[in-house]
Amino acid sequence: MTSLVDRWSQSMMNNYGTPQIAFVRGEGAVLTDENGKEYVDFLGGIAVNALGHAHPAVVEAVTQQISSLGHVSNLYVAEPCVALAELLLALAGRSGRVIFGNSGAEANEAAFKLSRLTGRTHVVATHGAFHGRTMGALALTGQPSKADPFRPLPGDVSHVAFGDLSELDDAVTSETAMVIIEPIQGENGVVVPPAGYLAGAREICTRNGALLVLDEVQTGIGRTGHWFHHQSEGVEPDVITLAKGLGGGLPLGACIAFGPAADLFTPGSHGTTFGGNPVACAAGLAVVRTIAGEGLLDHVKRVGEQLRRGLENHPLVDHVRGAGLLLGIVLRAPESKRIAAALQEAGFLVNAPQPDVIRLAPPLIISAEQADALITALDGVR
Ligand code: PMP
Repeated sequence: MTSLVDRWSQSMMNNYGTPQIAFVRGEGAVLTDENGKEYVDFLGGIAVNALGHAHPAVVEAVTQQISSLGHVSNLYVAEPCVALAELLLALAGRSGRVIFGNSGAEANEAAFKLSRLTGRTHVVATHGAFHGRTMGALALTGQPSKADPFRPLPGDVSHVAFGDLSELDDAVTSETAMVIIEPIQGENGVVVPPAGYLAGAREICTRNGALLVLDEVQTGIGRTGHWFHHQSEGVEPDVITLAKGLGGGLPLGACIAFGPAADLFTPGSHGTTFGGNPVACAAGLAVVRTIAGEGLLDHVKRVGEQLRRGLENHPLVDHVRGAGLLLGIVLRAPESKRIAAALQEAGFLVNAPQPDVIRLAPPLIISAEQADALITALDGVR
């Protein structure tokens, strides 16, 4: 029988490089490949599978929803979409409005468009940032290898050093529509800005009348032990964008605007066929309710600390950065690919966003035992 990986190479655009593993099943934090080998998933579909694979709450919510009302146009309204919007606003603890989409890139496109309705066009983003691969989101992304082949990109976007408030202050003017920042740069290798950076960015935006947009696609929905990472810094952004963990594995993104920014979109400003689809929103509701009901935010903080402490003692590791269950293991040498491959061989999925950084973004339900097993597996790698 031809393997799935071989079939892939005949039929799919060679966009991600040839995948090495074909998965056939997932349950909790464990994935099984086509040969029956099991892996503990420390990548969570890249910060996606908040509750792990096949979580009963998500399975039940999706099954019930698709069997009663699968899709309606956004010309009409369905309960899961409104209920999820209400819940997200309650978690944010502020009044605002939500527009749903299908991905992180789309959520950022919505924020980008919304910022144009301030009457300004200039945007400030950060070097190293990742905001998605659609043309607008790519224009915000601060990674030349991803953006350069596609220039010219839309918009008037300046990039400044991540974490540097004086550069930000110089770049933002009374012409600036928005500043977009990831609270922690995920794709860039889990890069954490200096304490006070978000508060400083808030002050600069307020002084210049620019919107502060926080891309919480990777950091949001409990990943760092808070519903939204910016809450850990007591900062109030004008807009946040979400996706990944929100949909419990289904495609779901959200752009949430607070205060006056919530009224910038008016009928006809924006739209999407599937955004706010009842099935995806039912999954989102199950994710958020389960995180709340099972006290997973505390669990994330606990297991995250356990991982950090255990990994920091390893002779190959310089230090560990990040928050909660979004961790970057910074190595003493640029050998992240070799170590990620060795861990994969040992049955643990991680990835290598930088030559010297291994990223962990496991399901939020990862157990203390599974965390210990990863630490032991790394001990076996020299
Ligand atoms: N923003 C951030 C911070 C991300 O990490 C990602 C995905 N890695 C995106 C946006 C884009 O999300 P999507 O792939 O769902 O378009």
